[in-house]
Amino acid sequence: MNFQIRPLLLITSIAILSHTQTANANRIGIKMPSEPKLASAPTACKSLDDWNEPTHARRIYGNTWYVGTCGISVVLIATPNGHVLIDSAPEKASEAVRQNILSLGVKLNDIKTILITHEHHDHMGGLASVQAATGAKVLSRSNIVDVLKSGKNDRRDPQFNELSGFDPVANVHAFEDASTITIGDKKIQHLPMSGHAPGGSGWTWQECEKSVCKNLVFADSLGSISDATYRYSAPDSLANALRESSQLVAKTTCDILITGHGTASNLLARLDQKAPLIDPKACLIYAERGAQALLNRLTQEKSEYNK
Ligand SMILES: [Zn+2]
Repeated sequence: MNFQIRPLLLITSIAILSHTQTANANRIGIKMPSEPKLASAPTACKSLDDWNEPTHARRIYGNTWYVGTCGISVVLIATPNGHVLIDSAPEKASEAVRQNILSLGVKLNDIKTILITHEHHDHMGGLASVQAATGAKVLSRSNIVDVLKSGKNDRRDPQFNELSGFDPVANVHAFEDASTITIGDKKIQHLPMSGHAPGGSGWTWQECEKSVCKNLVFADSLGSISDATYRYSAPDSLANALRESSQLVAKTTCDILITGHGTASNLLARLDQKAPLIDPKACLIYAERGAQALLNRLTQEKSEYNK
């Protein structure tokens, strides 16, 4: 893996499966996904902002698949040593996500690891039920382990007063920021991306088709949005963290950008070949847009303060 990011933080390799476990997994036969049958899937989305509207599963690149809804991305990274799911969409969408996973011909309990982008119900409200259905281990940034286990967001969250919480999640284990999650020969690099939420995460890994390998980046939200009382201009706010998250995304090697809300990267159109899937500048553009939105937000807060 040729990651451009080499954070100062210690890069820790989390071996998800021991050698013995890997052998067992192979013996029981973890099935790799195959193309879903389009005929049995819903037709085009009515709204790309609808978090719960089902849409069919799609290959993103190599062994990475889109199994989310019309409005919320959920990603399956398949490996012969156990599959990885990133995010779950809201609880209401759990059944649609499960059906998408099954439509690829894989078993739910072949998902061994679940990761998230950030602790807001639109992206992980269904995490408790997906974890229960799969029995997977949920790997979490240490600063939100208690949030996931309790189902209650904390007051550092810019949207705290407007968040609805979620069902408490079982089997949660902390990893160190900037770790590399290693499953067999698949390496998934963590990008610490606080700012939109305290526990925000991006993820990057490589997929190959034939001999053409691409760097995929599932970037967290860079939106500086909040409830009515939060101020990004307050001294203890997440503004600096958000700025750093933009900078991190901007310098990450990136061929295929995935965003939690697909509209932020025109994702479904790109997966449906209505726009170019691969764009090495996509992360940079996404990061610049996020940084500019934060500047606008701070300017707006200043002008409101001076009124
Ligand atoms: Zn959010």
